[in-house]
Amino acid sequence: MKTKVEVVLRNIGQLLTMDSGDDGLGDEGKDPIAGLGLTLDAALAMGGGKVLWSGKESELENQLDFKGAEIVDVGGRVVMPGLVDCHTHSVFAGSRAQEFSRRVGGASYEEILAAGGGIHSTVNATRAAGIEILVATAKTRLDRFLSFGVTTVEIKSGYGLELGTELKMLKAAQEVDRIHPVDVIPTLLAAHVIPKEYKKDRNSYIGLITKEILPRVAQDGLARFCDVFCDQGAFTIEESRLILQEGKKHGLVPRIHGEQLSRSGSVALAVELDASSIDHLENASEQDARLLASSNTVAVLLPGATYFLGKKDFADGRTLADAGCKVAVSTDFNPGSSHTENLPLMMNMACLYNHLYPREALLSTTKWAADALRMGDSIGTLRPGAKADVLVLDLRDYRTFIYHFGVNHTHKVYKNGALVYTRQIA
Ligand SMILES: [Zn+2]
Repeated sequence: MKTKVEVVLRNIGQLLTMDSGDDGLGDEGKDPIAGLGLTLDAALAMGGGKVLWSGKESELENQLDFKGAEIVDVGGRVVMPGLVDCHTHSVFAGSRAQEFSRRVGGASYEEILAAGGGIHSTVNATRAAGIEILVATAKTRLDRFLSFGVTTVEIKSGYGLELGTELKMLKAAQEVDRIHPVDVIPTLLAAHVIPKEYKKDRNSYIGLITKEILPRVAQDGLARFCDVFCDQGAFTIEESRLILQEGKKHGLVPRIHGEQLSRSGSVALAVELDASSIDHLENASEQDARLLASSNTVAVLLPGATYFLGKKDFADGRTLADAGCKVAVSTDFNPGSSHTENLPLMMNMACLYNHLYPREALLSTTKWAADALRMGDSIGTLRPGAKADVLVLDLRDYRTFIYHFGVNHTHKVYKNGALVYTRQIA
C-alpha cells in the first residue's frame, strides 16, 4: 500500500535536498561542489516519518494525491535536511567555566591539570554524578542542538574511564535518545585518556577496555561505534589498533580522534581498519588526504576545538576536499575544548579557517556527516525514503545561512515528519 501523505510543505523558495546534481545560483566562484539538489519554488511531501516526494510546486498536483494532508505554507523560506552533528561529548557532569578564565589569563594546560582542572575534573564530576543528572543536562544540551536545526547527534562516553561510569554515560545517552526528539547515536570512547590511577600501568587499563568494557557495552547494545584518542599523551598507534580491532570483533565500527596534537600516522590506521571517520586532522598531510580520498573513511573537521583552545593550526580542509575526501564538520561539543552546540557557526569557521567553500560546508553537516555515522541512507538528505528530518530556515536565500554568522536562523524543525520546534523572531 502506498504511504499516505500527511504533511506538505509548499511555497518553499529554495529547497536543498543534498541529493544529486545541482543548478546552483550561478555565482559560486571557485566553489567546486555540486550536489546541493537545489530546486526553486518547491514543495516537499512527508508521510510515515519519511520524505515521500519533492519537486517544483507547479508539479505537485499532477504528481501526488495529498487529500487530507496538512498543507503548510512556509512563506518562501529555505528548506533543507535537519543537520547532523557527528562528533560530540554531550554527556558529562560539572562545569569548567573557571578554567576558561584561567586559560584566558595565560595558564597552561599542565598548570590547569595540576590545579585539579582539565579532563580529570570532568571525569571526577561524571563519576560522582547520578544518571538522572547526566540525563537532565544532556537533555538541555539536545534542546539547544535542536534549536540550531540539528536532528541527529552522536554522543561519546569517555569521562568514566572505568566500567561503571562508561556504562552509566552510555545508558544516559540511551535514555535521552528515548525521551528527546533528536536522535542520539552512541559511541564508546573508553580510550579517551589513560585514567590517573593507571598512569604507571597503562596496559592494565587497555586490558580493562578490551576484556571488560567492550564486551559488556556490546552485549548490552549500548554503542554503535568504538572511538580512540590516538595522539601524543593519549593512546599509541599499536594500542589504538588493538582496541579498535577488539571493538570490531564485537560489532562496533571504528572511529579515531587523530592528528590533532601531533602527527601520529592515525590516518593510515583509520583506512586500514575501514573506520567510518577520522576526526580533527589538524596535522594531516597531503599524503594523508590522498589516502583518505581512496577510502570509505570520512574526514571530520572540528574547527570549534582549534578556535576555543586559542590555536591557529586549523585543519587544512581545502587540501582534503581537493583530494576528493568526504569532509564533515562537527561541533566536538565538550566541556574543555569546544563548548558550543552552535553547529551552523562551525560551518562559518570551516569556510574561513578550514577553507571549505560554503556549499561544501552545507554538505559537511548533512550528507557527509551522515556518512561519518554510516547513516547516509536514512539521514543527511531529503531524497524519497529518507527520514523526514527537515529544517525550515528563516531565510529566503540559503547562502545567508553561513554568511550571517553566530545567530540562529531556525524557523521550524520537523523530526520524522512531526513538527518538534518552532521559533518566531519577535
Ligand atoms: Zn572529541
